[in-house]
Amino acid sequence: MNDFDQLWIWDDPATASSLGWYRAVAANRKPAKFRIARTIPVALSLAQSSEDELWDEIDRLTPLFLARWRGIREASDAWGPPAPGASLLELCRELTQRMLTHCNFCQWDCQVDRSRASKFGACKLAADTRVSSYFHHAGEELVYRGTHGSGTIFFTSCNMRCAFCQNGDISTDKDNGLAVDAHDLAVMAWLLRMEGCHNINWVGGDPAIHLHKIVEAIALLGRDFAQPSNDDLARVLRVKADYFGKAELFPYFATYEGAFNVPMLWNSNFYLSDPAMKILRLLMDVWLPDFKFGPGRCAISLARTPRYWETVTGYLKLVHDWGEDLTIRHLVMPNHVECCTYPVLDWIAEVMPDAQVNIMDQYRPDNFCDPTSAKYQERYATIARRPETSEVQAAYDHAHLRGLNFEAVTYEKRRRGLVA
Ligand code: SF4
Repeated sequence: MNDFDQLWIWDDPATASSLGWYRAVAANRKPAKFRIARTIPVALSLAQSSEDELWDEIDRLTPLFLARWRGIREASDAWGPPAPGASLLELCRELTQRMLTHCNFCQWDCQVDRSRASKFGACKLAADTRVSSYFHHAGEELVYRGTHGSGTIFFTSCNMRCAFCQNGDISTDKDNGLAVDAHDLAVMAWLLRMEGCHNINWVGGDPAIHLHKIVEAIALLGRDFAQPSNDDLARVLRVKADYFGKAELFPYFATYEGAFNVPMLWNSNFYLSDPAMKILRLLMDVWLPDFKFGPGRCAISLARTPRYWETVTGYLKLVHDWGEDLTIRHLVMPNHVECCTYPVLDWIAEVMPDAQVNIMDQYRPDNFCDPTSAKYQERYATIARRPETSEVQAAYDHAHLRGLNFEAVTYEKRRRGLVA
């Protein structure tokens, strides 16, 4: 699987520099962040401390974690032994369980107790999590799909209401798929990596609304996760979309110094919250945010999402200021080049001109915008078609004019003859 490390796209200096940490973890030259978090001990009892005390502890430990991470990233420092008792990894898990009781996983800040399921927030979820499907995704960017696919886990439901959602069957039907616990999720992630995937790609819908289960699963993976039993595997294989019989496993490919290792990828609409970001910073090795709408009213009229521009630009800037690896995705939509594409690209050029941007041309009318569907609503007529070639070209021209880092990641499928 070392052919991942030899992909031609790494010869592009901008790509190599944007995603150096991710690449090193994917190739098992470095331990993933969750492995590093496991080496940092906590100094209090997780069960007996108040939530405020737990947040104080994470604020105290985060600089220690970052110093260790930077030492490993930049100077090849040793990563250290696992903490003997509870670690920063378990602290993250405990905090997300507490957050669930007054849910503030995302910008809606609904403050409902999802553990009781008596009231629901904008995502309409209680504590349960469902996975619609998981598989080796061969359609992601080359840096993520690599040679053996991106290990993608699709969760149901969403915290935005995009009328054109390209995954509408998953995001608008919160009851589809398989109900899973954290151990099921950990088994899925373990299996994908052992089969050769280059990352675990948490996506939906949106993964933020399942933060408590995802973090618990990562905590399990970080704590001596044993090979799953045949019963464990049989249960989760029911929603493995590419399961056609027993696949070969590659244990040597999934470990760093003997410990299970894989980069965690946060594939999200970035409609997040400050507390969620504090947790994710410690666990995610690479970020794949959508940046869809300009600062006008499009996020309201097309996605019923308030404060979109402020929220997404705020968290993009935060991640960039943190020095994290990221690829920003912008989907070109018909009739939204002037109001959305140009302001999005301009903002990136002004605030983070080095950031990698994938300008995506694959928009198709879907969900409530598909004229052939019974769900179609006439008010979305202006986006009920594919973007014209001239609209996509205008987006590319604008990105080129603004000097953005977009060409290698945006054009790679076209260059390799994978799309018409
Ligand atoms: S995840 Fe977001 S939308 Fe769902 S209850 Fe929590 S804050 Fe509300």
